[in-house]
Amino acid sequence: MIRAVIFDIDNTLIDFLEMKKKSLGPAVDAMIAKGLKMRKEDALAKIYELYKRYGMEYKLIFQEFLKSVGQSDYKILAAGIIGYRSRREVKPYPGMVKVLHELKKRCLKLAIVSDAPNLKAWMRLTYMEIDDMFDVVVAFDDTNVAKPAKLPFEKAVAELGVKRQEVLMIGDMPEKDVVGAKAMGFISCFAKYGNKEVKTGKSGADYEAERPEDILVIIDKINHGKLSD
Ligand SMILES: [Mg+2]
Repeated sequence: MIRAVIFDIDNTLIDFLEMKKKSLGPAVDAMIAKGLKMRKEDALAKIYELYKRYGMEYKLIFQEFLKSVGQSDYKILAAGIIGYRSRREVKPYPGMVKVLHELKKRCLKLAIVSDAPNLKAWMRLTYMEIDDMFDVVVAFDDTNVAKPAKLPFEKAVAELGVKRQEVLMIGDMPEKDVVGAKAMGFISCFAKYGNKEVKTGKSGADYEAERPEDILVIIDKINHGKLSD
């Protein structure tokens, strides 16, 4: 019987890469308008390369970018940061909010275990207007260790007050979310819609969700042995 569902945030609740893409376009346009001497596609490619090196949450990405292309200039930097923030679109995957409401209707407890820094995690939940739906939120600063370490999962499950085998964990990264969930004795569900790189059946998870609505189908199947309509 599943009594609690733990969600990852990025690429599980929210299309994180799409959000970055939508914010970076206007950021680069703004920098070019203020004097950045580079083609837009080259600038974007360079920024993604730096994200790969420093991580997608890297705070000084534009500073690093301008330095790396030999054009450090506060005028361009300020324009880039403002351009990035101006088009911030933090949207949940289509259908996800309805899924969360349905889970609440089924009296399931909901939690977050995310490697994002606490403020970023809360900002994203609040932007999406789903921050009130979660009973427990564990983000990076709560334990200072990243998934698949047990500590963040242990903190969440202790606060949820359920047994480990009553938890379904949903995430887009097999090496973090699935491996972590399995080590804890949770039932695991791979958010396939958030990670196109892993082939069907290769995530190692107990279940795979092709779209957010599949989460309900999986839970109803486990709890009632039936498919939801
Ligand atoms: Mg993720």
